Amino acid sequence: MVRLYRENRSRFLRVKCPDCENEQIVFEKASTTVGCVVCGRILAEPRGGRADIRAEILAALE
Ligand SMILES: [Zn+2]
Repeated sequence: MVRLYRENRSRFLRVKCPDCENEQIVFEKASTTVGCVVCGRILAEPRGGRADIRAEILAALE
């Protein structure tokens, strides 16, 4: 029997900007576009529930 992994909790992700290597925290289910605070590169875009992360994910924080 296959059971899909269900996420009950939302997490915060520690991500690294691919352009300037700035590290910052991004909400996994961001409802607005999240940009790098240093260079403005888009790091996450809302994508129907879960955000589309456009950066390197270093860790997940719960
Ligand atoms: Zn950046």
